[in-house]
Amino acid sequence: MLLQVSNLRMHFPIRSGVFSRVSGYVRAVDGVSFEIAPGETLGLAGESGCGKTTVGRSILRLLDGAEGEIIFRDSPNLLSLSQNQMRRYRRDIQIIFQDPFSSLNPRLTIASTLIEPMTIFKIGQSRRERRELAAERLREVGLRPDHLDRYPHEFSGGERQRIGIARALTLEPSLIVCDEAVSALDVSVQAQVINLLMELQAARGLSYLFISHALSVVEHISHRVAIMYLGKLVEVAGKEELYQSPLHPYTEALLAAAPIPDPAIRRERHLLEGDVPSPINPPPGCSFHPRCPSCFSPCRSIEPQLTEVRPGHWVACHLETHPDSPRKAR
Ligand code: SF4
Repeated sequence: MLLQVSNLRMHFPIRSGVFSRVSGYVRAVDGVSFEIAPGETLGLAGESGCGKTTVGRSILRLLDGAEGEIIFRDSPNLLSLSQNQMRRYRRDIQIIFQDPFSSLNPRLTIASTLIEPMTIFKIGQSRRERRELAAERLREVGLRPDHLDRYPHEFSGGERQRIGIARALTLEPSLIVCDEAVSALDVSVQAQVINLLMELQAARGLSYLFISHALSVVEHISHRVAIMYLGKLVEVAGKEELYQSPLHPYTEALLAAAPIPDPAIRRERHLLEGDVPSPINPPPGCSFHPRCPSCFSPCRSIEPQLTEVRPGHWVACHLETHPDSPRKAR
């Protein structure tokens, strides 16, 4: 395995009062486990606020306070390393952010943006060699070497995201966390950037953790998909299996609500009712139970565990595992 995440937790303290005492925790990520193989794309999907971005940032140690275990190849637990010890793994794990404009320094030329990480990690013998490598990265993402001397504001949104991808590639990573990487782009540009990511994966054997709320985009790029709700994974399966035979009522509702780009296809819509509960005080039992149309007695008190119910298909729902499940009685 390239990446193994076990029981990842990220609880943000809530401070209040004159002495800023901790009065509670926002359970943004609450016991998430998954793995990513070399050359694989794992899609991580769910409504906004479900904790998926926090998972991505915790892997890169961009947030302090995460607990659990993150193993990259044969590394020690990344969460136990100092920032200095973490440095050797930063080359291998890169991130592409949602907003390419705010993630690029407007005062730096594209050359400086691409050369700076190479200088820090001592890639290339001279500035001239690094500039040639930067030009090569631009070509790889469909831009021209003469773009090196321009500034971010001179590019369109799609071009800026290509620059973000080129920057991620400068350190020759094995894993890239794509955090809503195409969500801010027009639909036609989204398709170009997704295709570019897939071409780069085929050419370089890259792995992606592809975080997005857009299920159609996740379906296009992913090999496996994990669905997240209120800080936990509720279903993980191969792409075809998850989209054609979802088992968790939340996954079913998300898929039913997703737009289909074909007017000839009509789908019954089961819109999710109610609000997402607070991650400060999640409901007991299954945290989806206040919104679940299939809720039955044990759901209100017993938390369902993520269980492999078919080869490679994991789900956290009593419908699949509890002896009193109405689904089992059918
Ligand atoms: Fe619905 Fe119960 Fe399954 Fe939760 S465990 S998703 S409440 S059926």
